[in-house]
Amino acid sequence: MPEPAPEIGVPASSLPPEANTTSLEVGKDSTALHLPILIYHYVRDTVHSRDILRYQMNVPPAIFEAQLQTLIDDGFHFVSLSQIADALEAKIQLPEKPMAITLDDGYEDVYSTVFPILKKTQAKITAFLITDYLDHKKYLKSPEVEELLKSGLVEIGSHTLNHPHLDKLKDDLALKQIAESKALLEKDFGSTVSAFAYPYGLFNKQTPKLVEGAGYRIAVSTIYGADDSLKNRYFLPRINVGQRIGKKLLDFISAFK
Ligand SMILES: [Zn+2]
Repeated sequence: MPEPAPEIGVPASSLPPEANTTSLEVGKDSTALHLPILIYHYVRDTVHSRDILRYQMNVPPAIFEAQLQTLIDDGFHFVSLSQIADALEAKIQLPEKPMAITLDDGYEDVYSTVFPILKKTQAKITAFLITDYLDHKKYLKSPEVEELLKSGLVEIGSHTLNHPHLDKLKDDLALKQIAESKALLEKDFGSTVSAFAYPYGLFNKQTPKLVEGAGYRIAVSTIYGADDSLKNRYFLPRINVGQRIGKKLLDFISAFK
């Protein structure tokens, strides 16, 4: 099973926080939250530097752990995507300084490398899985997903059946990717799937409506930013912090205002 190219978005270093990569207006409303959602793909020690894309998208485990510790020490509280949906619907109040951590694609790293760090730090993440790739080499295996869910440290979301360019698909095929992956995850793991992540961060005008129609309560994009509201709940922005740690990490995140 080939690994899909990761979500590229816009390199964090090349984009000022105020620049938005989309013309979609992010509206302000009474339930708007300022809440950074971080995006990760690989947490590995060994990514070959010739594999430029993956090399750039990787965060080595020691740095990932240092990042979590920096955020914890600074008073951030990690929440899941379904908790953000609850907060946007004014059903719950999030803890002070909320933040979400997301990992896309469901690589084996989530279990082998990230999970031990979560157990140590008690940080929570939302992992977006590609259902056709589950149980394949390099990807999460079903019993591992069950263990992740049981820990209470990991929530799962859908990242489609096989990571297509959703913006290019006809609506019926896009809906199949969006709806069937949700149903499969819910059947396999008995856990309600509230969150969706767009492969490559790509969507067209219709895609967020399909995601909403399929019963998701929230979706994340690769638009840069940290403002979340009911108006953009189906294409919430995320932040790629790269390998920043310590003060550089905190400064980088706080610049998204
Ligand atoms: Zn992806």
